Amino acid sequence: MLVVMHKQASAEDIDRVVAEVKRMNLTPHPMPGALRTAIGITGNTGAVDPRRLEVLPGVLELIRVTKPYKLASREMHLDDTYVKLPQTTIGPGTFTVIAGPCSVESEEMILRTAEFLMARGVRLMRAGAFKPRTSPYSFQGMGLAGLKILDRARERTGIGIVTELLDTENADAVEEVADIIQIGARNMQNFSLLKRVGKARKPVLLKRGMAATLEEWLMSAEYVMAGGNYNVVLCERGVRTFSDHSRNTLDLSVVPPVKKLSHLPIVVDPSHGTGKRDYVPPMALAAMAAGADGLLIEIHPEPDRALSDGAQSLDFTAFERLLGQLRALAKPLERTMN
Ligand code: PEP
Ligand code: MN
Repeated sequence: MLVVMHKQASAEDIDRVVAEVKRMNLTPHPMPGALRTAIGITGNTGAVDPRRLEVLPGVLELIRVTKPYKLASREMHLDDTYVKLPQTTIGPGTFTVIAGPCSVESEEMILRTAEFLMARGVRLMRAGAFKPRTSPYSFQGMGLAGLKILDRARERTGIGIVTELLDTENADAVEEVADIIQIGARNMQNFSLLKRVGKARKPVLLKRGMAATLEEWLMSAEYVMAGGNYNVVLCERGVRTFSDHSRNTLDLSVVPPVKKLSHLPIVVDPSHGTGKRDYVPPMALAAMAAGADGLLIEIHPEPDRALSDGAQSLDFTAFERLLGQLRALAKPLERTMN
């Protein structure tokens, strides 16, 4: 349910509605807009008589939100969400490139990558310290030592850090270091993890599960937002299909419906989406054209020696070439690269 306040509603009017919603054992989510404030209501609203709110001073109207996801829906939140970070802002009209190696492998390669990215205007580096691997015998990531390296890279270069949180056990440590906490495809419906990052002070990059529908994906975003963390960036990373010419099928066709149904920003990961480095640049350019707000791309100083996902990682030269093409495409597509 959404309570829309009058343009002239006072702060006291808003507080009164918030207090009444709490008395109804529901959760209020005040959303100040350019013209007026709206107050989203979550919880079991079916049992509630909305007339209790309708009669309060300053209330313009009550709108029932029909979708199962509420806070993540455009019905409840008309304006686009911009996720503001110390280094940049992610949202429509801009185009944010996030790049880095699949895994933190050493301090030397992380610093080298961070310096390379900052010198080219890329302000967010993604690298995993905790890795979800299909085989227990594959490299599992450097863990806490990897987080320390990421922290030092930010300290030395000023780059923002995007890194994956695999389990609630390491939530405090990851939250401390990350500028954005990544939730991986395999954890998209790990509800205890979603509830934990709903309490985090850092934005969340929520990857789409490999067989998740758009509705399931937005319901997962809803878990994070229901906990009070409204800074969610969606990430399309490909889904499982019968196709075997690529690792996954990058579902760029999900971008326009995401924009229609939700106000959350969406970035595209053409690296996991294709699994092959040759296919990454064309799909990256297509993602911008499809309306994505940015990219998550795996790059590596020496892709053929990478400890994970080398086959889909671009080397620095190929990445730089792609950046140039994205910059050229940004203008006709009315985007500012950041
Ligand atoms: C990754 O980003 O390196 C990763 C493991 O991605 P996903 O969760 O999309 O498979
Ligand atoms: Mn990877």
